[in-house]
Amino acid sequence: MQLKKRDYDAVVVGSGPNGLAAAILMQQNGLSVLLLEGKPTIGGGLRTAELTLPGYLHDICSAVHPLAAASPFFETLPLAAHGLEYIYPEIAAAHPLDNGTAAILTGSIEETGRLLGADADTYLKLMQPVVKDWPVIAADVLGPLHFPMHPIAMARFGLPALTSASHLVKRFKTPEARGLFAGMAAHAIQPLSNLATSAIALVLMANGHLKGWPIPKGGSNQIANALASYFVSIGGKIETNTYITSLNQLPSAHAFLFDVTPRQLLKIAGHKFSPLYKWQMERYRYGMGVFKVDWALDAPIPFKAAECGKAGTIHIGNTFEEIEEGEQQIWDGKHPEKPYVLLAQPSILDSSRAPQGKHTAWAYCHVPNGSEKDMTATIENQVERFAPGFKDTILGRHTMNTVQMEEYNPNYIGGDINGGVIDLGQLFTRPVLRWSPYKTSAKGIYICSSSTPPGGGVHGMCGYHAAKRALKDVFNRRLVS
Ligand SMILES: Cc1cc2nc3c(=O)[nH]c(=O)nc-3n(C[C@H](O)[C@H](O)[C@H](O)COP(=O)(O)OP(=O)(O)OC[C@H]3O[C@@H](n4cnc5c(N)ncnc54)[C@H](O)[C@@H]3O)c2cc1C
Repeated sequence: MQLKKRDYDAVVVGSGPNGLAAAILMQQNGLSVLLLEGKPTIGGGLRTAELTLPGYLHDICSAVHPLAAASPFFETLPLAAHGLEYIYPEIAAAHPLDNGTAAILTGSIEETGRLLGADADTYLKLMQPVVKDWPVIAADVLGPLHFPMHPIAMARFGLPALTSASHLVKRFKTPEARGLFAGMAAHAIQPLSNLATSAIALVLMANGHLKGWPIPKGGSNQIANALASYFVSIGGKIETNTYITSLNQLPSAHAFLFDVTPRQLLKIAGHKFSPLYKWQMERYRYGMGVFKVDWALDAPIPFKAAECGKAGTIHIGNTFEEIEEGEQQIWDGKHPEKPYVLLAQPSILDSSRAPQGKHTAWAYCHVPNGSEKDMTATIENQVERFAPGFKDTILGRHTMNTVQMEEYNPNYIGGDINGGVIDLGQLFTRPVLRWSPYKTSAKGIYICSSSTPPGGGVHGMCGYHAAKRALKDVFNRRLVS
């Protein structure tokens, strides 16, 4: 069938990592693609700015990139040639405890296990199969629900992954191993007693052993810049400052892909949807939000445990029990006094982030969706607990509550940075249960944001799969992988 002439073959709305990935895949397949972004700069969750003081570069959203470095799609792109350089910390993540020690995740699975003492064998038994199978199951795990290409390896991963972190942690005896596991599972941003909260822990730890947890030299915006530079180099077109509120604003095209969440898409294109699809989309659930702090520092953070000084990422929260209790409280609408805090310290690896001898740090804690409570003191108390003297190093700070998060990026509804809660009910079938979750009920309209499988994080796989679907449906092009 011959398609009629349009301004573009495809238009992508939103230039986060998923919008960029979708635009690139379609442009690579010979289509003419326009990428529209509402804000003055591209990148969505991949922007870097002087938030505190001149000369201090802060990642406004994402900071640490195990998922981008291991993304099956990004790995195929010549991003290094377009300026992207990853820096790998000696220790991917450290988890300090009140007793002054810290559990650590390093590139070596043997070393990570050995340092867990009495839990060494349990760690190796749990992680070795995931690390071994990851190269063949990554495409299945990071995609929509379908019959897996490697069913046995997938089952080996799925059995522990689909359990709750509260259940899987029972395999470990030591506070070090239990704490390390809690810090990883808490990336799921939901109670650790929820089914499938073990999945994110296993994926993050396996990627730590296989690819590391790098930061981009210069800031996370370098990932967006490299993706955009490659897209333009193959003929793609980008327009910023174009915020879309109606389909009427868009140029004509055969396919429209939206890097937005269901609530936004309903406002833009809801009138085109079938009553059933609209009803399903209206029931999409958003999860807990985040409160974020960025600091300009006079010195590196003086952690008691020396290992923390070499780690790109620190999970603060002490024991499994403390983190489990805090996450449950937040889910129940409360603000714990000692929340789990996710902290990154890019300037210990990348001197371009701060003036000579000075440092930056990035941190957030989870809060109830829509919370306006100022968590600055709570977060700083948590850091001070494991790094006495930290507060004295602070030269400047910048904070964002959930309302400011959403103002900054309309995809963060109520401060939810995952584009919707990623529990079992919305893991593979986000945003709604359909044969292809990327295809809406309106012809030619697709959703490609983290509100589709595999969900939040900088990996571009939501955009990749949405574009693959549109290429098949609209342009009759089938990609093999
Ligand atoms: C504080 C914070 C910390 C994070 N840390 C990490 C981390 O360390 N590692 C990691 O992997 N992930 C992290 N994430 C998550 C990650 O940033 C997101 O999962 C990811 O950016 C989602 O990509 P996306 O393309 O789906 O959407 P986004 O990156 O949110 O991009 C959506 C884009 O669409 C634009 N847009 C929205 N509506 C419209 C409209 N109507 N018209 C035009 N443009 C529109 C927005 O302006 C935005 O640029 C973090 C997120 C936050 C907020």
